[in-house]
Amino acid sequence: MSGADFDAVVIGAGNAGLTAAATLQRAGARTLLVERHNVPGGCATSFRRGRFEFEVALHQLSGIGAEGQAFSLRPLFDGLGIGDRLTWVREPDLYRTVVPGSFDVTLPADWEGATATLDAHFPGNRARLDRFFALVRDLTFWQIAAMRGTPADQVDELFFRHGLRPARDVLDEHFEDERLKAVLSSYWGYLGQPPSRLPFQDLALVLFAYLEFKPWHVRGGSQAMSGAILDAFLEAGGEVRFHTSVEAILTRGGKAVGVRLDDGQEVSATDVVSNASLPLTYGMLDGLDIPAAVRADLATRRIGVSGFVLHMGLDASPAELGFTTSTTFVNTDLDADRTSASWHTREPARGICVTSYDVEPIGFAPSGATHVSLMTLQYGSAWDGVAPAAYAREKFAYAETLLDLVETVTPGIRGAIEEVDVATPLTMSRYLGHPGGAIYGYDQDATESWQFRDSERRPHVPGLHLAGSWSGMGGFQPTLEAGVRVARRLLRSKAA
Ligand SMILES: Cc1cc2nc3c(=O)[nH]c(=O)nc-3n(C[C@H](O)[C@H](O)[C@H](O)COP(=O)(O)OP(=O)(O)OC[C@H]3O[C@@H](n4cnc5c(N)ncnc54)[C@H](O)[C@@H]3O)c2cc1C
Repeated sequence: MSGADFDAVVIGAGNAGLTAAATLQRAGARTLLVERHNVPGGCATSFRRGRFEFEVALHQLSGIGAEGQAFSLRPLFDGLGIGDRLTWVREPDLYRTVVPGSFDVTLPADWEGATATLDAHFPGNRARLDRFFALVRDLTFWQIAAMRGTPADQVDELFFRHGLRPARDVLDEHFEDERLKAVLSSYWGYLGQPPSRLPFQDLALVLFAYLEFKPWHVRGGSQAMSGAILDAFLEAGGEVRFHTSVEAILTRGGKAVGVRLDDGQEVSATDVVSNASLPLTYGMLDGLDIPAAVRADLATRRIGVSGFVLHMGLDASPAELGFTTSTTFVNTDLDADRTSASWHTREPARGICVTSYDVEPIGFAPSGATHVSLMTLQYGSAWDGVAPAAYAREKFAYAETLLDLVETVTPGIRGAIEEVDVATPLTMSRYLGHPGGAIYGYDQDATESWQFRDSERRPHVPGLHLAGSWSGMGGFQPTLEAGVRVARRLLRSKAA
C-alpha cells in the first residue's frame, strides 16, 4: 500500500467509471469515486416527472444473453456480486421499422424469424438473406477473436476483406431491393453513421449481438443498474463524492499523482482513472504539458454525435396507442445520407427511434399509462448560436417535428400526452460535461475503429488510465466492460 490518500481516484460515475471503481475496490484497492452530478450513471440514469419515471438513455441493452447462453454482462454483474439484484426484461423483437408509404416491417429477434419475415415482405430473397446472415455471424466471430488478441495470421481473411468496408457496399453486393437494405440497416440510426460510412463490422456486431443474444431491458431502467454497481462499490468499502467535480489532475515527475476537487481539496492517489472526455481529461493535467503524441491524436479526431430526446408520459396503454414492439424506427424516406447530414441542423427530424417502455414493462409508468421516448441523433453544433431567450421556444418547436413523425405510426399520440420533458445536445453537455454533448465519444466511423485507435490500451501519462466511450467504443455494453477491463489491467500492473 502506498502513502497516498487512496490507491485510486476514479473521475466520473458513468458506466465505465462505476465498473472500474467497483472492480478496484472489490480487489482491495482503496478507491475514491468523484462525480459532478448528484446521481450515479452518467448517461445511465432516469428522472421523475409527475407519476412517471423517464429513462434517459437505455433503448436496448446488448450483452445479457439468455439463461444458459450468457453473454458478457451476466458474468460481469455476477462478478460484482449484484447479478441477483437486477431483473432483466427480454424484448421478443429486434425492432419495427417504418418508412411511411414504403415499408412497415417488424423483425423478430431470432435468425430464422428475421429471415422468414424478410422473405415474406421481400419475396425471392431467402438465399441472399441466408448468405448475408452467415457473413454477419462469421465476420463477428472473427472480429471478436481478433479483438481478444488472436494473431492476425490466424484470423480468417473474410474479416480483413469485409470488416472495414462501408455497410452499404456489403448490402449492395447481397441485395437489390433498397427497402430490404434499409430494413436490415435500420440500426444505423443508433450507431451514428449512415450505411455509406458505417464499417460493416459495426453493423454486423450489433445485428449479431441482438439476434443471437437478444435485446434486453432492466426493471427500474439503467438507473437500477447504476445504483446496483454503486452499491457493490460502497459495500466493498469504497468512498464516493457526488456533486463534486475534479478540476485538475495533479502530476509529479510526469506521473499522475492525484486530483484537485472543485472545493480546492487535493487528494493524492497512486492511480487516476478518468471516465471524463479525453479533451477534458488531458486539459485538466496540472504541471504537465499535454504529451505531443496526445495533441497530435486529438487534433485528428471529431467530436461525435449527441441526441435530441422527447420524453413523454402518456395517459394510455401501449395497446391503446398501437405499440406492438418496444423499439420502432421511423424514417421519412430511404435517404440515410441526407438524414445524417440533417443531424448538423435543426431542420425537421427525418428519422427517429421510438421506444415504448411498457410493451415489456420496466416499471416506469403506472398501470394503464406508458412512457415513450422519441429520439433523433443530432450534433451539438446544431444549437450553436441559439440565443438563450429563444432556446425553450426552439427546442419545443423542434420536438414538434419528432411528434409529427411518430404520428405517422401512432396517430393521436399527442392527445395522450400527460407529461413531457425535452433534452437537447446542450442538456447532454450540461449533465455529462462532454464537448458537444457527445454520447458515444468521438464520431464512430472507420477511422475510429478499434484497429486504428486505442486510447484505452495506450495511455500516455503514467498513472492516468482512461475508461469509457471517449477512449473506446460508446454504448452500454462496451463501456460497462471497459471499466472492468481497465481496472483489471491496472491491478495486474501492480501485481507484476
Ligand atoms: C439519450 C441517449 C440515448 C442512448 N441510447 C443508447 C442505447 O440505446 N444503447 C447504448 O448502448 N447506448 C446508448 N447511449 C450511449 C451510452 O449511454 C453511453 O455511450 C454510455 O453510457 C457512456 O458511458 P461512459 O462510461 O462513457 O460514461 P458517461 O455516461 O459519458 O459518463 C461520464 C461521467 O463522468 C462525469 N464527469 C465528467 N467530468 C467530470 C469531472 N471533471 N468530475 C467529476 N465527474 C465528471 C459525468 O458527470 C458523467 O457522470 C445513449 C446515450 C444517451 C445520452
